[in-house]
Amino acid sequence: MAAVTKAPRGTLDKLPSIAYKYRAVENIALEIANLSGYREIRTPVFEHTELFRRSVGDTTDIVQKEMYTFDDKKGRSLTLKPEGTAPVARAVIENGLLNEALPLKLCYITNCYRYEAPQSGRYREFSQFGAEVYGANTPLCDAELIALAFTLIERLQIPQSCYKIEVNSIGCPECRKIYQDALKKYYEQFKEELCHDCHTRLTNNPMRLLDCKVPTCAKFKNDAPLILEYNCDDCSDFFATFKMALETLNVPYHVNPKIVRGLDYYCNTVFEFVCENGLVFGGGGRYNGLMKELGGADTPASGFALGIERIVSVIEGYATSSDVQSTQNVPEMYIAGIGEQSAMLALKLSHELREEYGIQCLCDIVGRSVKAQMRFADKTGAKFSIVIGDDEIANNVATLKNMENKETLEVTLNASEISKNI
Ligand code: AMP
Repeated sequence: MAAVTKAPRGTLDKLPSIAYKYRAVENIALEIANLSGYREIRTPVFEHTELFRRSVGDTTDIVQKEMYTFDDKKGRSLTLKPEGTAPVARAVIENGLLNEALPLKLCYITNCYRYEAPQSGRYREFSQFGAEVYGANTPLCDAELIALAFTLIERLQIPQSCYKIEVNSIGCPECRKIYQDALKKYYEQFKEELCHDCHTRLTNNPMRLLDCKVPTCAKFKNDAPLILEYNCDDCSDFFATFKMALETLNVPYHVNPKIVRGLDYYCNTVFEFVCENGLVFGGGGRYNGLMKELGGADTPASGFALGIERIVSVIEGYATSSDVQSTQNVPEMYIAGIGEQSAMLALKLSHELREEYGIQCLCDIVGRSVKAQMRFADKTGAKFSIVIGDDEIANNVATLKNMENKETLEVTLNASEISKNI
């Protein structure tokens, strides 16, 4: 029975008491993305497994350990998307979107699935807001992307003291190669002490050595060579202009030369949004190699993804912004009726207030006593109430009560008059 009444491990029910915060974050995100010319794209929840193998990379934890992969009835290997970028890139190529005016700016809100060990802020089903630009290979593009995420964070009134925007440049494939050799050489000295995964990383993907959270490996990170010192002149210039653009846009940032990002297709710009408690709630960067890797035209691309669960957990800690609060589903009005005729009028007036005046209004639909109706109205947090009985119908007037300050006002019993007084 537990399997019926218990959600699968690592999933989260977003109950009404919190779901409105998700809705608010999503609405604000799409609204500000639209202002910068990003158009929403929606891709399927599952894709061919090969897409993630090719894009995210065979050597990553995501592909090696975390994907929800299954065969369909025709034996095709499919995978629930573990991240949003690869499906968008696939859709861009498949649908020829690069033939539209470039740069192409797209944004998405999507669920993602990763078979990770669940813990605070880490789920097996989670959602991301992402924004991507195709066809722009400039530091200004990257700075504009970060500014978009920063605007969202500001709109949610997350204090700047509570998080950092950390940026780095991982260079181009040429200078990165020299860096990777240096990194490999450095870590080889400690080979005996590295964890099993890091042994593989040493051969397959040395930059991931910097991502290892195992304490015995993590300690070597402190003295590891820094990629910024290996950036070629062009990459250094790119990074300098990128930082200047962030300053121009008043986006606060910190250079963290140890960020490398977990995915294979990044180059130059990488960044992360990190809470004061170390929780990373977003990240992104430039992935110029991805489109070609997937068989499309060689097109530069850049983007980010913010984890919505983590953003909501961050805003839980602070005074809720009015933008978020206004998304809460609190009724404006409750109309109670005493008796059959009054109940019918309450039903009609509620409907008119909703339909003609856009006022959120509730009335009794379960046949409760007036006392029980008012108890219910109180519980919903309705801001105003009216009670209709025989006298009110006879006089066509009722008392409109402000449920907060208890002030009352006589109003004519029609939707137009009621709407003017609340
Ligand atoms: P990534 O694609 O790993 O860079 O993830 C981008 C963002 O998605 C992260 O910064 C998190 O906010 C969020 N995220 C990634 N994995 C999870 C997870 N297992 N549970 C909740 N949020 C996640």
